Amino acid sequence: MKLFNTLTRKKEEFKPREPGHVYMYVCGPTVYGPMHIGNARTFTAFDILYRFLKWKGFQVKYVQNLTDVGHLTDAGEDKIMKGAHQRNMDAFAFVELMIEEYFKDLKLLGIEKPDISPRASEHIDDIIKTIQKLIENGYAYESNGFVYYDISKIKDYGKLSKQNTEFLEKQRNETNGEKKHEGDFVLWFPAHKDYPMKWDSPFGVGFPGWHIECSTMSSKYLGLPIDIHGGGKDLMFPHHEDEIAQAEGAHKSKFCNYWIHSEFILINNEKMAKSIGNIITARDAVNKYGDKAVRYLLMSPHYRTEINFTEESMKSAQNTVRKLIDFIDKIQEMKPKGEFNKELNKKVIETKNKFEKGLDDDLNMPIALAAIFELVNDTNRIMDGNKLSEKNLKDVYDLLMDFDKILGILEHEKEETPKEIINLIKARENARKKKDFKESDRIRDEIKDLGYILEDSPDGPNVKKI
Ligand code: AMP
Ligand code: ZN
Repeated sequence: MKLFNTLTRKKEEFKPREPGHVYMYVCGPTVYGPMHIGNARTFTAFDILYRFLKWKGFQVKYVQNLTDVGHLTDAGEDKIMKGAHQRNMDAFAFVELMIEEYFKDLKLLGIEKPDISPRASEHIDDIIKTIQKLIENGYAYESNGFVYYDISKIKDYGKLSKQNTEFLEKQRNETNGEKKHEGDFVLWFPAHKDYPMKWDSPFGVGFPGWHIECSTMSSKYLGLPIDIHGGGKDLMFPHHEDEIAQAEGAHKSKFCNYWIHSEFILINNEKMAKSIGNIITARDAVNKYGDKAVRYLLMSPHYRTEINFTEESMKSAQNTVRKLIDFIDKIQEMKPKGEFNKELNKKVIETKNKFEKGLDDDLNMPIALAAIFELVNDTNRIMDGNKLSEKNLKDVYDLLMDFDKILGILEHEKEETPKEIINLIKARENARKKKDFKESDRIRDEIKDLGYILEDSPDGPNVKKI
C-alpha cells in the first residue's frame, strides 16, 4: 500500500515500524463549538484510512487528542475561553459539554471513535515533563513565566513545511515574552490571575501551548517513531512542524514516518470562514441532507483534492447513495431461481481487486467507487432477463457489505412501506387482473403522488420511495 508522505512529497510504500501493527495519530478538535463540515471532512478522511488499515488486517492503535485547554491560535484567539464566556459557563464545564457534543457528532457522521481520545487537561504532568526534558536537552528556555522553544537549536526545523527560517521568523506573532529569536514558539504560557484554566508548574502558574500537547500525547500512547500522523493541511505549519521539533528534541528519536494531510472543503467554491458567514455545521448538513449523503460527499473525492459543498453536489450525493441502497435492497429481495452465472462471479472477483488496488494507491477513493458502480451496472445488466443463483446474489451482497466496513454508507434498516401504499398496490393488481388498465394507471399515479414509484418485475410489483 502506498501513501503520499508530506515529509518527502512522494507516494511511498507504507512500511509500519512493526509488521502487522499501525500506530496512528490525528490532531483532534479544540472543543469550543459544534463541529463544522470542514472538521468533519478531515475526520472522515482519517476515519477512512483507519477503517481501511483494519480491513487490510493491520492491528491499528489510533489516537486522537481533545484540546480542552485554552490556548491562543496563530490569530491570537482563545476559542475555548470565548465559547465559555459566550455561554456564560465555567470553562471546565464548557469543555465537558463540548466533548460530549463532539462524540455525538462523530456518531452522527458514521465516524468510528478512535481507540484513545486523550484530553490535554488530563496530561498536564506529562506535558510539563516534556518541557523539562527540552530545557535539559538545551532546546528550550524560560523567560518571564514563558517557556520558549529555541528554533536555532534544531538544524532541520522547517523540514515538513519546507519553508526557510527567514520566512518562519516573520511568520510568528507570539511576542509577549522575551524571545531569543522571532521564530521561537511558546511551550508554556504564564496565566493571568483571573484566567481559569491554569496549573502549577516549575515554570510558574500557567497553561501549555497547543503544539506541545500533541507531541506529548502521541509519544506517550504510541511510542516513537509513530507510523502515521495526520491532520488538515493547514496544520502542517506551524503545528506539525513544531510537534516534530519538540518530540525530536525531547526524545532524540525520529518522531513520525508518514505525514498525511487532507485538503479543505469549500462552500460554493468559497473558503468557509466566520468572516464570510458561510460556516455549515455537520449537524445542520446531516439534518438537511441525511447522514449517508453527507458522509458520501466527504469521503468520495480523493482526500488530497478539494471538495465543493453546494446544493447540487449534495443532491448528487443523495442520489448516488439512494441508488446504491436501492440496489442492495433489490438484490436482497430477489427470489433467486437461476443457474450460477460465471460472468457475474468473475466480475465480483475483479471488483474486489480493483477496489483494493484503488485504496492501496494512496487511498484513491474515486477508483475504488468506480469499481463498485461498474459491479452494480454489470449485475443489473446480467440480471436483466436472467435469473441468478442464490450464490451469485449473496456474493455481490457480501462484497458490498465488506466494502462498507470502510465506506460506512450502505448498511441500513429497510424502510417499511406504509400500509396505505400496500393497499393501493393490491387494488392496482386487482384492476390489472380485470384488465381495467385505466384504473390501474390511475392507482399508479396516486401512488406516485404519495411519493412512491411502482415498477413491475417478473417477481411482481416493486415499490420504491422517490
Ligand atoms: P476550526 O475549528 O475552524 O479552528 O478548525 C479546526 C481544524 O479543522 C483545522 O485546523 C483544519 O484542520 C480543519 N478545518 C477547518 N476548516 C476546514 C475546511 N474548510 N476544510 C477542511 N478542514 C478544515
Ligand atoms: Zn496536533
